[in-house]
Amino acid sequence: LISAVLGALAMFSIIALVLSLVKIKDVTLPPTVKYGIVFDAGSSHTSLFVYEWDSDKENNTGVVSQTLSCDVQGQGISSYASNPPKAGESLRECLDKALKVIPPAKQREVPAYLGATAGMRLLREQNSSAADQVLAEIARTMQEYPVDFHGARIITGEEEGAYGWITINYLLDSFTKYYPKEHMWVHPEVASIFGALDLGGASTQISFIPKGSVIKWNETSKFTLYGYNYNIYTHSYLCYGQNEVLKRLAKELIAESSSSTQVEHPCYPKNYNETISLSSFHTSPCTSQNDLHLTLADRNVTLEGRGNASRCLAAIKKLFNFSACSESQNCTFNGVYQPPVSGQFFAFSAFYYNFRFLNLTNGQPLATVRETIQNFCTRSWEDLSSSYPKEKPERLRSYCANANYILTLLLDAYKFNETSWNSIIFQMKAGSMDIGWTLGYMLNLTNMIPAEALEWVKGHDP
Ligand code: AMP
Repeated sequence: LISAVLGALAMFSIIALVLSLVKIKDVTLPPTVKYGIVFDAGSSHTSLFVYEWDSDKENNTGVVSQTLSCDVQGQGISSYASNPPKAGESLRECLDKALKVIPPAKQREVPAYLGATAGMRLLREQNSSAADQVLAEIARTMQEYPVDFHGARIITGEEEGAYGWITINYLLDSFTKYYPKEHMWVHPEVASIFGALDLGGASTQISFIPKGSVIKWNETSKFTLYGYNYNIYTHSYLCYGQNEVLKRLAKELIAESSSSTQVEHPCYPKNYNETISLSSFHTSPCTSQNDLHLTLADRNVTLEGRGNASRCLAAIKKLFNFSACSESQNCTFNGVYQPPVSGQFFAFSAFYYNFRFLNLTNGQPLATVRETIQNFCTRSWEDLSSSYPKEKPERLRSYCANANYILTLLLDAYKFNETSWNSIIFQMKAGSMDIGWTLGYMLNLTNMIPAEALEWVKGHDP
């Protein structure tokens, strides 16, 4: 027995010696590339984005890059209300393209989302079962693909605004910045955080951090990002996207006109004529309410362009109920609360498209912007269509109205002034990344933005 015990002890000490000589090292897996897919199903069109990032850096800021963007052919998904299976079919081409850029071995782990915005909010208001069917068909198609499908849903206007705000500030490193010399993550000042202005076809969003405390907390979104709490004011205006505004403008002009067949349109170019059917107003809840001045029978009306900038601006202002704000401070229109705008803003999507077309995206002062828009509005249809032969007519005829709408929204409603105008940056890209709500949506849903501050171990580069 003694010799057996001594043998066991000897064996134990040999094992202990061997273990003390062999240093057990932490083994870290080599970083791999991860991917994510998000569809932005807007009112007028759908786009797909594929993002990629290194798995070992996923909680850093600014590390996601855009691998692919793909424009879905045809109109927005709400246009398939009477044929929902086609909504699903329409996405196949872009899904196929997405799978071509993602290695097959990784596809099953790729989170895939579809977020629908104001076009679908309106369809849901008008015909909720059609909206459900469109989303169900989309889900059916997306589930056929070998990706990790996380749902197709209508996002709220507030989410749309907040995710756009997250996207911009994530891309511009406004939340946290790494200083390699000191091996430190630093939290930049709140003043360097950007606000977001988004103009879609059916809704528009404004999101920013107000100065001081916000009075009405029900209008704020709260986020804890990298160890800091943010209370951002965000509001989305349904029916104030540019396509719906244009339709509402036409309806008002027709309702006010003394003629029942020919109606002057101050925002359309001189000598541009367009015949529309009054039944087209029934297609959206923004224009379908019957008012006393207009019986929406199925008759045709010809809109005759007059190219009159001041009358155009006046007609657009009538689409806002400013008098609902006359009593209260911090109010935009229709009685909506908004604290004073503060800090720098990124204005993207249709804010950018219209101003880019008018060469107004280089920080021009407000006086120049006003003058450029006025001059553009007086140009005849012959002049415009020969000067811009490649531009789609339905876009070319709308720039005067859109630009005046943008001025009214930013100046009269949001109350930017001559000075704060200069803090609006009209931009669609940050480096090679498109600016929009999709990246912020994915970052949030995949928990890629930690609530805690980043702490970096010495010697470990981000
Ligand atoms: P959506 O994102 O689909 O809600 O709409 C964005 C708005 O921008 C719509 O009114 C589109 O008609 C408009 N739009 C989209 N692309 C362009 C472009 N390249 N130039 C001018 N307007 C555009």
